Amino acid sequence: MKVLISEDELQQGISKMATEINGQFGEQPLTVICVMTGSIILVADLIRQLTMPVKLGSVHASSYRGDTSRGELELDTSMLPDLNGTNALIVDDIFDTGHTLNAVHNHISRLGAATVQSAVLLYKHGRQELEFDVDFVGFEIPDEFVVGYGLDYQGIYRNLPYVGVLESGDLAAEQENN
Ligand code: 5GP
Ligand code: MG
Repeated sequence: MKVLISEDELQQGISKMATEINGQFGEQPLTVICVMTGSIILVADLIRQLTMPVKLGSVHASSYRGDTSRGELELDTSMLPDLNGTNALIVDDIFDTGHTLNAVHNHISRLGAATVQSAVLLYKHGRQELEFDVDFVGFEIPDEFVVGYGLDYQGIYRNLPYVGVLESGDLAAEQENN
């Protein structure tokens, strides 16, 4: 595994994002919406550095079918709290083509939130397929498939404390070749 963003670098980037979010919202209550499953670790670290009253909700989005190519997006929003009149902040692991965040944003906007903003840990360069402005970005990364810190390959690697790029010799890469 090649380490792309170390544990220390991740924490610095997340602190910077938290400072920006605290600066923007001040003491206004915020409803953080965790896009499961990839952003679970990011959300856990991020919200502990937010200083306003925070409510937590989640949506489940899946577009990758255990692979690195994009499939049809499935969105489960049955776990959301009441968003009427709230400031909503959607938090996702990575902005790649943009289809996931765009779809979640459209859905949340229709549920009556007063404002809807978004934050991502990683923003992948050169992959965007639609116009969408992410409000808070942790790190910009090159167009490589990354795992760790919530991000998976075929369901594994989410527990790595850093963000890495698979190399031959890694478990998943080996399984792929067998
Ligand atoms: P998008 O809809 O922007 O193309 O893709 C966003 C979703 O695809 C992310 O929430 C994430 O689940 C998955 N994804 C995109 N790029 C990567 C990547 O490099 N690694 C992993 N593990 N997942 C990715
Ligand atoms: Mg995702």
